Amino acid sequence: MSATWLTDLAHVVTCDDGDRILHDASILIEEGTITALGSTADLRERADQRRATRITGRNRLAMPGLVNLHTHLPMTLLRGIAEGVDLDGFLRTVWAAEAAVMTEDTVEQAATLGAVEAIRGGTTTANDMYFHHEAAHRGAVRAGLRHVIGPVFFDGPGPDGLSWAERMQGLKEWPDRNRAIGGPSTPLTVTPHSTYAATPGQLREVVDTTREWPTTPGGPGPLLHTHVSETAAENADVRARFGGTPTEVLAIAGALDGHLRLVAGHGVHLTASDRAALRHADATVAHCPGSNLKLASGLLPWETWRADGIRLGIGTDGCSSSNDLDMWQAMRQAALLARLSSGRPDVASARDILRAATIDGARALGLGHLVGSLEVGKRADLVLLDLDRPHLTPVHDIPALLVFVAGRADVTDVFVDGQHVLAGGRVTGVEEAALLSVCRALAPAPPPRATPSHLHSGSPA
Ligand SMILES: [Zn+2]
Repeated sequence: MSATWLTDLAHVVTCDDGDRILHDASILIEEGTITALGSTADLRERADQRRATRITGRNRLAMPGLVNLHTHLPMTLLRGIAEGVDLDGFLRTVWAAEAAVMTEDTVEQAATLGAVEAIRGGTTTANDMYFHHEAAHRGAVRAGLRHVIGPVFFDGPGPDGLSWAERMQGLKEWPDRNRAIGGPSTPLTVTPHSTYAATPGQLREVVDTTREWPTTPGGPGPLLHTHVSETAAENADVRARFGGTPTEVLAIAGALDGHLRLVAGHGVHLTASDRAALRHADATVAHCPGSNLKLASGLLPWETWRADGIRLGIGTDGCSSSNDLDMWQAMRQAALLARLSSGRPDVASARDILRAATIDGARALGLGHLVGSLEVGKRADLVLLDLDRPHLTPVHDIPALLVFVAGRADVTDVFVDGQHVLAGGRVTGVEEAALLSVCRALAPAPPPRATPSHLHSGSPA
């Protein structure tokens, strides 16, 4: 029986229902589950009985691991290849690069790299979307991440070249293949790319197949993760082709019927009736402020969505749009944008943002009973931050310190499902130097420099 005792922690931010913050506290983890939380003196006897490995948390803060609610981990290889363009230009550049370099093996390595970046930054769960999903899952699980992914759907061949029939076959096989790959518990997931990359009829076929998926009593139900109303142009395109907003198309396809959890990536340009439909379906919007800012996709009105009762989580999007997997930046951007756009410094409180990036993200995935907060009985997905830093000294308002000051470099230790996946700044699941060298070799050649068209056509200058 394995046990770990984190002692002498300066602060434990629980993100439980009462948002308790414990001071001079201790956490006991047994077989991956948090079995005690309290003062170091109170836990000593039990920890000794269990012969727990002791890790001293002096000047450390413990908090739940961050939940990145919308990302594309393997895009680590494509960081910086599509700059200065909007979503449409971005997709055209990226999809061409993906078709050129993203084989199954490349995706596995790139997902491992993304998972290592995520873990180093204090992320313990990533809600991912990418083709060659099995390879991505293998790679991320190898690094130790709680990794949520499923088959992706496009109406065309997509960068992986699969036909629709092959994709549907993959979807039918996914429950067994997902179980075989293993890794920390996640919901069975399907990730049609968007309502502009598949028809309503195709989406219905996908949704109907998930109705046959096995459900575990007490376990998370199936999850549908897709892009929804990221830009105004997307809304106009989907309305012109299919006669409704992306949310309305999802409703027509049966995705809001209640048997699926829905995570709507972005959700920037939702109408009032879209928002009512999403709230009614208990769906979650994954707010990706870094990507929305960089691609000039629009501004999600946080306080309006909150007032409408929409559950909000936070994501980074893929790191070729945002351009990183930094959830601290994403939290800060979400808070600052909400305040600037509303003209109110009292909206998007640090507590609100912190909950969105932890427990609300976990609930969005159907994992709220397992992770997202530090409570007895939950799996140990947690992060230690080193407070022995000038910018974290002294400590007054802890949620504000976490949202507005702390960053990836402050993360020293990460546990996922009780596994110590970052130990004193060292990644334990993979040989990191070798991984970096493999990924450097796999990266695509930089895109050719734009050349004035007259040089090709031979026309006079
Ligand atoms: Zn995305």
